[in-house]
Amino acid sequence: MGFFDQGNQSEKERLHMVDKQLVARGISDEQVLDAMRNVPREVFVPAKYRHDAFNDGPLPIGKGQTISQPYMVALMTECLNLTKDAKVLEIGTGSGYQMAVLLRITPYVYSIERIAALAENAQNTLVSLGYESVNIKVGDGTCGWPEQAPFDGIIVTSGAPSITETLKEQLADGGRLIIPVGTRHTQTLYKITRTGNRFNQEEITCCVFVPLIGKYGWEDN
Ligand code: SAM
Repeated sequence: MGFFDQGNQSEKERLHMVDKQLVARGISDEQVLDAMRNVPREVFVPAKYRHDAFNDGPLPIGKGQTISQPYMVALMTECLNLTKDAKVLEIGTGSGYQMAVLLRITPYVYSIERIAALAENAQNTLVSLGYESVNIKVGDGTCGWPEQAPFDGIIVTSGAPSITETLKEQLADGGRLIIPVGTRHTQTLYKITRTGNRFNQEEITCCVFVPLIGKYGWEDN
């Protein structure tokens, strides 16, 4: 198969994935669907898993970490209710795929990754795809990014032991925090919406993420 055919094939699989895994399960935000139709997920997956890039599940990206299931990326992004000028913080850059989806919606995306090699790889992938202003920082995302706060949306893509107060404090008025909370192995996805100094908490679904490691997360063992 030539390069052009491979590109066509990936696009077909991507559109199929959006219909069968996202639309069929109730994802309806057009800007999320449009982003996921256009971001080449296959480029964010290690070469040896490229043929599985559109599978309905997470995939390994090295260093014991994963790129999340497409449906979970779509659901979490939809829960953020982003406008085109929203400022967003992602905790857990991983492969950079979720960041690319966010960057299709708003240019103001900040992402923190604790593993330097993954951050560097994600940065390179995003730059190679032509994304400008890729704001990735290596560090402990459980402390947020106070210099850039407040955020209209904060998305945590690893499982926390509790709803992180520091992150709640970095939400703008009306801002949304999407965070999986539970044990190191299974969690519940929560959406926390800030109104003044009140925080409304909704349960979205059960989920399975790698652990959030850090000062307000799990210990690194
Ligand atoms: N969003 C990613 C993507 O699109 O590929 C998937 C993220 S993966 C499920 C979770 C990531 O969170 C891992 O890369 C892990 O190293 C990172 N992580 C865990 N604890 C962290 C912390 N305290 N700060 C920043 N990143 C963290």
